[in-house]
This record gives sequence, C-alpha cells and structure tokens, in this order.
Amino acid sequence: MTAVNRQTVYDRFDDSVNGGCASNAGIERPVLKQRGQHEVFCGLTGIIWLHRKIQDAFFLVVGSRTCAHLIQSAAGVMIFAEPRFATAVMGERDLAGLADMNDELDRIVRQLLDRRPDIKLLFLVGSCPSEVIKLDLQRAAERLSTTFSPDVRILNYSGSGIETTFTQGEDACLSSLVPTLPPEGDKAPPSLLVVGALADIVEDQFVRLFEQLGIEGVRFLPPRCAGDMPPVGPKTRYLLAQPFLGDTARALDERGARRISAPFPLGVEGTTLWLKAAADAFGVGSTTFDDVVAAPRARAEHALERYRAQLSGKRVFFFPDSQLELPLARFLAREIAMELTEVGTPYLHRQHLEQELVLLPDGVVLSEGQDVDRQLDRCREARPDLVVCGLGLANPLEAAGLTTKWSIELLFSPVQGYEQAADLAELFARPFDRRTRLAV
Ligand code: SF4
Repeated sequence: MTAVNRQTVYDRFDDSVNGGCASNAGIERPVLKQRGQHEVFCGLTGIIWLHRKIQDAFFLVVGSRTCAHLIQSAAGVMIFAEPRFATAVMGERDLAGLADMNDELDRIVRQLLDRRPDIKLLFLVGSCPSEVIKLDLQRAAERLSTTFSPDVRILNYSGSGIETTFTQGEDACLSSLVPTLPPEGDKAPPSLLVVGALADIVEDQFVRLFEQLGIEGVRFLPPRCAGDMPPVGPKTRYLLAQPFLGDTARALDERGARRISAPFPLGVEGTTLWLKAAADAFGVGSTTFDDVVAAPRARAEHALERYRAQLSGKRVFFFPDSQLELPLARFLAREIAMELTEVGTPYLHRQHLEQELVLLPDGVVLSEGQDVDRQLDRCREARPDLVVCGLGLANPLEAAGLTTKWSIELLFSPVQGYEQAADLAELFARPFDRRTRLAV
C-alpha cells in the first residue's frame, strides 16, 4: 500500500482550480481539487479479480517482497488449484544492478512455462521497484514472445503504485490487450463490445438481456479465455462496464471503435440506462426495450425496497479510492434516498462520467484527488452515518466512532445489473448491521 506525498500527481487533470468550476459536458459542477498525501492500494490489486476472469492467463509480477506480500495476502493462498499469479522477487543484487535482470527474467519465465503448459497468456506486471531501476518489461515481453509464440502470448503492463490508484491496474492490463485484438472481418456486421471485468454470472445475465433485445454476438473484454479475444474495428461499438478504463478506451478509439456514452450499470436506473444506450445504438425500438427489461427491472425495484427503508436519509461520505464513487453515489442518492455529503474520487474522467454527473443531486460536494488530512477533517466535521473508504482509513475512522465500508469490496463482489442491485444495496446496509451487533 502506498501513501505518497507529491504535489504534481494530478497535474494532468488540472483544468480547474481548487473550488473552481469544472465544465462537465453540459453540466457545471464545482469540483474540489486536492493535491497532497493520498492513501491508496496500487494497481497490482487488480490481479486479484483479473486472474479469476481470464482463466488461462498468468500474472507474473516483477517486484519486491512487499509486492509479493500484497497480492499474496489480498488474494489469499490457492490451496487446491495451481495459482495464476506469482512474483519474481527482485533481490538486492538486482536492485544494485549487479545481476542481469533480463537473463534472470528469461530463466524464470522459461521455468514457469515449462511447468505450466496450461498458460496461454502471460502478463509481466511492472511494480515500483522495476520502474525505479527502469527495467524495460515491454522489451522483455517482445523478446520472450518471439521465443514462446504462438503457444503463449506475452504482454506487459504496470501495476506500480507510483502514480496510480488500485483500479488502474485493470485499465493498464486491458489497454495492453487492445493492440493484440484481431481485426473485425470486412463483412462482419456492427458489433457490441462490453469493456471491463464483470463476474461471470453478471456477464451471463447481460448476454441473455442483449439477446432478448436482438443484439447478437455481444463480446466482452477481458474474455474468459486467451483464445477468445474479441475482434475490434470501426464497426465495433463499445460500452464501458467500469468507469476507470480511460487508457483502454483510448486504445479502442485508436482501433476505430466508438464508445457508447452511458451511465454505469449499478442499480436499477444505471442498468436500465446502460442497456438503453446500447439498445439505441443498435436501433432497438422502445417497445421491445420496455418489454425485455420490465420483469427484471420490477424484480430489482421490489428487492431494493427493504434497503431503502433501512438506509433512506442516512448520510454518506466517499473518500477517493476505487473510481466507482460517482456511480455509487448516484445509486445511493437516487434509488436508496441516502444523502450525499462529499463524493471523492481519485480521478474524474469528465467524458466517461458525463451521464453520471447529470444524474447526481444538486449541491453535492465533489472532490478529485486527495489531501488526506484535510479530507479527514471535513469528514469528521460532516459526521456522516457511513464512510466509504480504503482499507487504510477504515480502522482509524471506526475507532473514531464512524461506520465504514471498504470500497475495495465493491470490486470483488458481483454488483452490476438488475439481479445484483439489492446485493449492492446490502453492501451498504451491512456495516450498520455489524455496528448494531457489536453494540449489543
Ligand atoms: S507495486 Fe509498489 S505500491 Fe505496489 S506493493 Fe509493490 S512496492 Fe508497494
């Protein structure tokens, strides 16, 4: 976990001043810009859900013992299965430049692939230490690819915590895949690509809904197998399932694909608008759309009622962590009737979040970046009923009498879509249940 103190981290987003007005595609909202110490997990964390998603991929972190401990303790030890991630630990000789890291890396990769013929896609994942000594993993991936292709594809991306927040690991991973995706065929019809790792169960539900809408052959990035990479090209329309995929979207745009602008599929409203955006892009009529979504939508609305009764009116404060903060805040405010105090996000991608921004209630305080001490002061002053934050802040806040929710849990749980709307609400109800039990 990193706690870094740099003043320049967010300079590339510096298109508004502290407390100034940021232009948000048709909506002007004040955004409090913060640049100071921030508390986040690094991009290695994404391996925890990505290794479960791409079932024949392997993630080899080139890093330190700290990196090994991070993913090992966060992902747990796989006792019955062969693990699909590991760390090539850089020792003092490597860091001091006394050993040839490339020779070492080649040896480890060869050993791994000899032992594990099931691996079809190998990611060399960079870390803070590998970046500090400027180990060129891109070149290493190219060199190793010539040796092991076509049996194994070898790619690289950075999971370093130097300038990232933890969900950027997925963005870096997916954007490394985009240039390798096959081109779409000349005669292929327009296709829909859903981008962002979703739990298999959620993916299956969306496939069924798209089929009922008459949108056939929907593909997903990442796919479940390395051999099932979706084709991409100018006839591809893509729908982001996660709000933190800026680099991946840019890489898809460069391949000619076009993004469908939509809110994110969290909650009943988000899911409906997300599906509707796809339906509109593929010419599905309103009547068909309404017919298809009516039953799951009604079920989900009904399932949310008990959580609305439980959570309505409670005040929630978001620390910046997962980049899911805006869609979550919109869901909690509009569907659960919770009151938003401050909604912090590490980065605010104004284009990708334009449809979320218009749905947020007036007057909500939005903040981008972090200056953790000042934000803690604002949080204590606001005395919210619930604080959504990273693991590093949760314990001290709980000790100070605040009820917290770990935002990282939202990445590990299936929360998108109609059938999961109530599960999503329950994740915010649980901390209150826990506190009640502790108080008994
Ligand atoms: S990549 Fe950096 S921040 Fe992440 S565990 Fe390794 S050293 Fe720590």
